[in-house]
Amino acid sequence: MNSKVSIQRAGGYDALRSHIEKLIDDLGGWRAHVRPGDSVLLKVNLLLARDPERGATTHPAVVKAVAESLLDYGASVAIGDSPGTADKGVERVFRNTGMIDVAESLGIPWVRFETAGTRTIPIDDKLTLQITRAIDGFDRIVSLPKLKTHSFMLYTGAVKNLFGLVPGFQKAGFHKLLPRPSEFSRMLIAIYERVPVALHIMDAIVGMEGNGPSSGELRDVGLLLASTDGVAMDTVAAHIIGIKPNRVITTKLAQKAGLGQGDLSKIEIPGGELSDFILEKPFKLPPMIPDRLVPTWLVRYLGRLIWIRPVPIEDKCVRCGICAKHCPVDAITMRGERLPEFDYKACITCLCCHELCPEDAIELDRSWIAKRIG
Ligand code: SF4
Ligand code: SF4
Repeated sequence: MNSKVSIQRAGGYDALRSHIEKLIDDLGGWRAHVRPGDSVLLKVNLLLARDPERGATTHPAVVKAVAESLLDYGASVAIGDSPGTADKGVERVFRNTGMIDVAESLGIPWVRFETAGTRTIPIDDKLTLQITRAIDGFDRIVSLPKLKTHSFMLYTGAVKNLFGLVPGFQKAGFHKLLPRPSEFSRMLIAIYERVPVALHIMDAIVGMEGNGPSSGELRDVGLLLASTDGVAMDTVAAHIIGIKPNRVITTKLAQKAGLGQGDLSKIEIPGGELSDFILEKPFKLPPMIPDRLVPTWLVRYLGRLIWIRPVPIEDKCVRCGICAKHCPVDAITMRGERLPEFDYKACITCLCCHELCPEDAIELDRSWIAKRIG
């Protein structure tokens, strides 16, 4: 199966409308993906209640440009996601990330995924998961992922963005149930397979490298990508930032399952050459967790020598307790004003604490061997 990924250069977040329209025109225009009169859900990436200039969430300027274009085309539009952490309320996340401003300025709704009820989809013969029913009220989903590295998954883009369809409070449980990136990826693929997305449009204008998806460093990439094939889009985006696409487990599994194209030679870039967009300096990668460094069977023997540990940073930590609340195995204890205490014997290295800490106050320490082979 050949797939198309359109790519547009964009120097910043101003005046994006023409870039978005060119991006969509290269894929046949909106009419190839959405009917006039359709209701369209823009599934954004709202990880936590953070200013969008800090690069952890889909930038509101991208959301606004896509929404305006769809409204002019004749669709109705809403914005939705279920943040990984919304300890002070979901509305605060939508407000701090700029989504409520976009919704109010265009007179469109924003949608809570947490209160709409859920429906069950299978992961495999034994496991199921619940995704929000909020998506059932829409004719089409347009997914707007953000280009970032990811400490647990290595990379996050189109396929991973759909994990936001699992209501926020249920997300951590899947890390306990499926602690290895390979297992977790199977679950992401199950969502990708069962939730039809009309179009994926990636905010890769400013990406995040290093300790993504929330504590990494900003990186100017200056690109917007779009495709009907999220696997192909992840393949292209990973290649652009210097990650071999077959290192992204979701891409590997999805291609194997026939859910998308992970072979660069079979992906068309309309009106351009992929080589023109590849960054001269690849993204810094997050520290690799043991399963990625050595085969799983070897981890059993070397596990004590190869480890990554989340460690709180004294002068950044505000003792909010969010890390403890979201740890799926209760490996973090808060004691008054003291730094959170981590039980590394119980820790399953899901790195949720690192991902969800609002203060970037958790760094990742690695064993001597992990530093050398990671
Ligand atoms: S490490 Fe982060 S999440 Fe945990 S208590 Fe400190 S500031 Fe809060
Ligand atoms: S301590 Fe952090 S990395 Fe370890 S299991 Fe808990 S949330 Fe995951």
